[in-house]
Amino acid sequence: MSSASATSAPNSADSAADSAATDLNGTTRTDVLIVGAGPVGLFAAFQAGVLGLQCELIDVLDRAGGQCTELYPEKPIYDIPAVPGCLAQELVDRLLDQCAPFAFPMHFGERAQSVTETVSAQAEDGHDGHPRLLVTTDGGRRYDVAAVLVCTGAGAFAPQRVGLPEAAALEDRHVHYAVRDVSSFAGKRVVVAGGGDSALDWALALRKVAARVTLLHRREGFRAADGTVAEMREAVAAGEMDFVVGMLSALKTDGADGALSAVEIRTREETLTLPTDELVALYGLVSEPGPIAQWDMDMRAGRILVDTTTYESSRRGIFAAGDIAYYPNKQKLILSGFHEAALALRRAYHYAFPEKALVHVHTSNNATLKEKLTHA
Ligand SMILES: Cc1cc2nc3c(=O)[nH]c(=O)nc-3n(C[C@H](O)[C@H](O)[C@H](O)COP(=O)(O)OP(=O)(O)OC[C@H]3O[C@@H](n4cnc5c(N)ncnc54)[C@H](O)[C@@H]3O)c2cc1C
Repeated sequence: MSSASATSAPNSADSAADSAATDLNGTTRTDVLIVGAGPVGLFAAFQAGVLGLQCELIDVLDRAGGQCTELYPEKPIYDIPAVPGCLAQELVDRLLDQCAPFAFPMHFGERAQSVTETVSAQAEDGHDGHPRLLVTTDGGRRYDVAAVLVCTGAGAFAPQRVGLPEAAALEDRHVHYAVRDVSSFAGKRVVVAGGGDSALDWALALRKVAARVTLLHRREGFRAADGTVAEMREAVAAGEMDFVVGMLSALKTDGADGALSAVEIRTREETLTLPTDELVALYGLVSEPGPIAQWDMDMRAGRILVDTTTYESSRRGIFAAGDIAYYPNKQKLILSGFHEAALALRRAYHYAFPEKALVHVHTSNNATLKEKLTHA
């Protein structure tokens, strides 16, 4: 059976045209804002399309995939229905493919900041009096929506920072937690700290432009792909870069602007001072609850308490699905999040289209939807 014919489709994708997103005075008006483009947010986008809702997605990271992409892209997953086994990144790629026919905008590098109720639907159209919501992001975007579906999982990922007091003043100037522009490292003495794939990949890439690259890791072993580790060891053996086992113990600055001049490294035997222009610290990501925790919803242990008939929070119009949702016996599994998102959006539909009844049909009985999904 094809996935299209198995999909239950209350109402239709064509009703999406009724509420196409508009951008007036810098505010995007749409039906649903999905916050978080992890596996659950991506499946939610597909479900929104099937239901005929318009939506937009935002994620604080620079790409989709959430924990699957950031924490375990190459780990196999065996418990997704009808997928006997696939790598976590493969699952994300398939979810992106699945929602692609609806072409919903995804905005990366945007963190949801605040939510306020704008105008009551009762005042606007005489229906059941639920508010529209205005969501702002740290990037200055504004979304005027009928509902918000929070799929923020473990929280907003942020880089694990260098734990030295002098690091903060050097951030974005000489201490970096991501490489955005390789050319800015040209001719510089660069220390790349970390032992994962990102640290090794960037050390290898930067050695081609930098005056010298030193990879710094606290132990001999790495949490990176075998091939990348082998490539790094070959580059060290060929004299193309250095590798030091040790811990950062201080950052030295000089000049009027306090530029980084050296890093101090504590090894088992001694403390080294390594002349350095740029430090790239790739220690991995930590998750933070972020501003959504202040959205005035009932919370349990940092998660959003939801009603399991609708996955709505205590604040009307705001729903939660995936790891961020809390209810008794909640399982932090991708398949639970898929179910939660599907039900949340069915309730959200009533907020977006209070005048329309939600009629269950199957995609195979809906010519527009079938056409869209079959020829994607
Ligand atoms: C090592 C490991 C192995 C696992 N294996 C399995 C498995 O085999 N099977 C299984 O079902 N589950 C597994 N899980 C659990 C699974 O990964 C999670 O249940 C799943 O990722 C939850 O998806 P999500 O979309 O709810 O959240 P996440 O994957 O956490 O994604 C949330 C997204 O929201 C974004 N975000 C957060 N806050 C904001 C904000 N304020 N504004 C904008 N964006 C924001 C984040 O950047 C992130 O991209 C595993 C987890 C780990 C750590």
